[in-house]
Amino acid sequence: QKAEIVVVGGGYGGATAAKYLRLLSNNTARVTLIEPNASFISCPMSNLVVGGSRTLSELTSPYDNLSKRHGIKIIQDSVASIEADQKTVKLASGKTLRYDKLVVSPGISMLMNSVEGLVQANKDGITLQAWKAGAETVALHKQVASMPDGGTFVLSIPEAPYRCPPGPYERACQVANYLKQHKSKSKVIILDANQDVTSKGGLFKKVWAEQYPGMIDYRPKHNVVGVDAKTKTVKLEVQDDVKGDVLNILPAMSAGEIAVKTGLANSNGRWVNVNYLNFESTARKDIHVLGDSIQVAPLMPKSGHMANQHAKVAAAAIVAELSGWEINPAPVLTNTCYSFVNTRDVVHVASVHQYNAAEKTFKTVPGSGGLSPEASALEGVYAWGWARNIWADSLG
Ligand code: FAD
Repeated sequence: QKAEIVVVGGGYGGATAAKYLRLLSNNTARVTLIEPNASFISCPMSNLVVGGSRTLSELTSPYDNLSKRHGIKIIQDSVASIEADQKTVKLASGKTLRYDKLVVSPGISMLMNSVEGLVQANKDGITLQAWKAGAETVALHKQVASMPDGGTFVLSIPEAPYRCPPGPYERACQVANYLKQHKSKSKVIILDANQDVTSKGGLFKKVWAEQYPGMIDYRPKHNVVGVDAKTKTVKLEVQDDVKGDVLNILPAMSAGEIAVKTGLANSNGRWVNVNYLNFESTARKDIHVLGDSIQVAPLMPKSGHMANQHAKVAAAAIVAELSGWEINPAPVLTNTCYSFVNTRDVVHVASVHQYNAAEKTFKTVPGSGGLSPEASALEGVYAWGWARNIWADSLG
């Protein structure tokens, strides 16, 4: 009987893994993908929707190719529990599936209770995160569009690690760009729990000074601990309260809920430790975890680009193991993150990470990677090229 491979989550990690498990096994592996959403919506580029220059439909791709072209069985459902001892998963609909190999790429979970009052503020419709692309992304744009001229958009950033290090700073640019055109007396306040801008700092600060003078108020070492929905006030650990008209509060994050619930998050109870040669969880055999849920090696970001690469290393290792092939993996992963600073100009950061067998971790390759010299329209073209390529690679 053929081995059963079940993939949990059809995002950047899971969709890529499902497709590459089929490709690398010459279409012989039996692969089932479980994903609750009817189609894939990309977080990369979603800040442009928040800023109002793009629509969600431009970031949405169907899952059809994975089933029709690649022979993956797709079940639109979510995994309610994983019984690692029995090697089964239970779906929300009640169905149970058996697996020989399980690939888990459920993204992140928001630790809503880490900010007092945030659960209630979300319930009251005062705050939302829009850190998973979809309806919230559109709702956040609507909040920005209905801000009074002279109003304040407050964006808070949790201490790293969190999903997409440059993402919040890109969001600040997109919101400021919208406000500059439509409500020019308004302001963006960034409350950052970190010591300084965690990615592309020099580039973002230059753009803020040159393109949005007096509009973006960046406050490092400002750790948000509470929110009062009634008065739209943000409470900080050390500094005075901050009031705003739109509050985009990003709390601390952890591995996706299903990974935590299954006991896979063995790094501080938040992230999943994996063997970087095959992305197998160190807590459970035959469960491979990808993407934002893992404890990354130093200097590796939680990005879609990285999740796509984890998936390929894991797929190759799984196919080799199930086929009885001897392989000697020496993975090298790359990452590029583009950020739009207005609707046209972009900055990037790139890095190369090589597996180091002696230390069993990834190390950045000396002299590799780098940063844009400055924001440019040409990089805007590259950024859309990157997006279309990775969508085609994961879902095409
Ligand atoms: P996801 O892509 O989030 O996929 C997780 C999937 O699992 C989801 O489809 C979810 O529905 C599903 N799922 C969850 N739980 C279950 C369950 N129990 N059962 C079944 N399915 C489940 N990265 C870049 O590389 N470049 C960028 O420019 C970039 N920009 C970004 C901008 C923003 C605003 C944000 C928020 C993120 C950005 N990222 C970017 C980061 C990128 O989106 C993530 O790193 C990437 O999505 C991680 O992939 P993943 O597979 O871990 O999770």
